[in-house]
Amino acid sequence: MEITNRYIDILRCIDCNASLAQSQSPPLRRLICSQCDVMYEVKNNKIYFAKQHIKEHSWQNVGADWPALGENAGRFKPNKILGPKIKDLPNYLNISEEGRWVYIGSGNDCIKGYINVDLGDYENVDIVADICSFPFKSNQLDLIVSNSTLEHIYNFKDVVTEAFRSLKPGGYIYMSVPSICPRHHAVDYHRWTMAGLEKLFDEFKIVESGACRGYADAINVMGNWLIGDKIKNAKMKNLIHAGWNIACRPLYWGKNTSEISVALSQTIFVIAKKEGSYDK
Ligand SMILES: [Zn+2]
Repeated sequence: MEITNRYIDILRCIDCNASLAQSQSPPLRRLICSQCDVMYEVKNNKIYFAKQHIKEHSWQNVGADWPALGENAGRFKPNKILGPKIKDLPNYLNISEEGRWVYIGSGNDCIKGYINVDLGDYENVDIVADICSFPFKSNQLDLIVSNSTLEHIYNFKDVVTEAFRSLKPGGYIYMSVPSICPRHHAVDYHRWTMAGLEKLFDEFKIVESGACRGYADAINVMGNWLIGDKIKNAKMKNLIHAGWNIACRPLYWGKNTSEISVALSQTIFVIAKKEGSYDK
């Protein structure tokens, strides 16, 4: 089904909040506001709400002036995620397949079944939008997920306010954010403690929280960045990266869900439920 038909019932004009209609004058493919006549472009099966989106397809490289990691920076390093994975969340939270699931800040990581929203027009993004102002009507969504995106948004509280507005009563949000984590991008403003992350979801009911990438990743990444910065010889750098990753392996053993483990973690998450409704 055409992307515009698929989502038009839940989309809104981000300028005036009114419903949108399809343009009746082909070949121009647009969504038009029913009230203020603002037009939103539809191109390559994407709807553009952001006028100034990111065109670069490698978000990590946008303006980063960071030391180079050696080729072996990821070698022998376990890939361990604690807590539920985004692709499993609809099932985990018992959300119907007909529900509306939205992945905000999906980047290159777009996941099937979700409406993928990002400020970059990456290949599998469905909606190109600034997530400080969701293009969704109030009380429409069953699930919103976000993974390591909030730290790139200076006014991050706007995102949580918008999530509360557009979730259905009873809808869920999964939010993972960095905690003990070096700056990883030129546009990287914030870090959270678990207390700070839970406080951000004051309006919601917290149903689960914990470590996402644990302390093993926090320690491992710090070592690898130091190796990247301090060791200049490429062969030596690669050797030390690989040795460091092997040395870190025992840190990944076990469940690591104690309070101190969570407090030392690279990234942490909450799952929060909207209990009231939004009637503005
Ligand atoms: Zn409008």
